[in-house]
Amino acid sequence: MPDMEVQSATAPPPAVVKRDPAEKITRVPSESPLVDVMGGSSRHEIRIHEHGFIALMDAMPRLCPQGQTADFAIVQAARVSYGAGTKKVNEDRGLIRYLLRHRHTTPFEMVEFKFHIAMPIFIARQWIRHRTANVNEYSGRYSIVPDQFYKPTVEQVRKQSKSNRQGGEETFVGSESAKQRDSETGQEGARTAEEFVKYLEEAEALYAKYTKLTEAGVSRELARIGLPVSVYTQWYWKCDLHNILRFLSLRMDAHAQKEIRDYAEAMYALLEPIVPVTMEAWRDYELESVRLTRLEVEALRGLRDGGDGSIKSDNSREKAEWEVKRASLGL
Ligand SMILES: Cc1cc2nc3c(=O)[nH]c(=O)nc-3n(C[C@H](O)[C@H](O)[C@H](O)COP(=O)(O)OP(=O)(O)OC[C@H]3O[C@@H](n4cnc5c(N)ncnc54)[C@H](O)[C@@H]3O)c2cc1C
Repeated sequence: MPDMEVQSATAPPPAVVKRDPAEKITRVPSESPLVDVMGGSSRHEIRIHEHGFIALMDAMPRLCPQGQTADFAIVQAARVSYGAGTKKVNEDRGLIRYLLRHRHTTPFEMVEFKFHIAMPIFIARQWIRHRTANVNEYSGRYSIVPDQFYKPTVEQVRKQSKSNRQGGEETFVGSESAKQRDSETGQEGARTAEEFVKYLEEAEALYAKYTKLTEAGVSRELARIGLPVSVYTQWYWKCDLHNILRFLSLRMDAHAQKEIRDYAEAMYALLEPIVPVTMEAWRDYELESVRLTRLEVEALRGLRDGGDGSIKSDNSREKAEWEVKRASLGL
């Protein structure tokens, strides 16, 4: 970090140092009163869909000096790595923003959050790909799987996107194009959405069989395998802030499936009051930023020199992505 401005790590000496002669431990009191970043709550919970939730259970740091936010732990860690003795004084906010802008990520790993999450298994499958978290999941081998399933309403059923092979955007019912289509095809779209919801309900009805067979003595570990992936699971999920920001970048993005996006947005809402400076910097430098490739930079330079701003690529997807970026930049 060449021209980093870092405040000296030298702190005033603590008022009282309690030393128990019988022990080797020196207990240094805090310089200012400490406050609980969760305000004394046992959990901060946001309900999601009909049966889901995400609850913040714990934080590290849980206590922070009065008047500060948990962002302080990032600054504290960064100042250790830069060492004491640097003369320039910088605001904590500026330091955090510098660290994020320059991807100096380890100080963000010093902050951790533990969540309790209830989500359908198809969401859990996507979530578990984020390997840097610690996870403890509800066991369908030990316990009966609860009778809870994710089911969108007819209005929420999405069509397969033509541009994004992994996604669905437009709904069958309600949107202007859907109304137009239905007036031409006699409500065909609405019928398809209704049929889909019925198909999910038929899958949910398998729960009665699951209960009957476990009662008849089939092991829980086998009986559960006939249930659909819309059934809910729960886990505790602990992750450091650096990797949480990575999770949020990927899962708050428009390319992520809507259902996991709902959870990611709720996670953001839970954390924003606790680490507001970091979250603001992350929005500025990551979530709402635009990353340009070399070809895109060349296209931009070409625009300045009278070019049409198109990129030199024979890849149609890459070209389409550039058009989306251009539109977002108003070019
Ligand atoms: C829109 C979208 C679509 C996706 N589609 C698919 C799909 O079709 N099929 C599929 O299989 N997956 C898919 N994924 C999952 C994706 O490939 C990643 O596995 C997932 O997003 C987790 O990202 P990550 O590896 O950065 O996160 P984490 O696993 O949390 O890792 C964070 C970072 O830690 C480091 N790291 C972690 N583990 C290792 C390791 N073993 N070695 C070296 N470095 C490591 C890497 O820098 C990594 O970026 C999709 C993800 C998204 C967001």
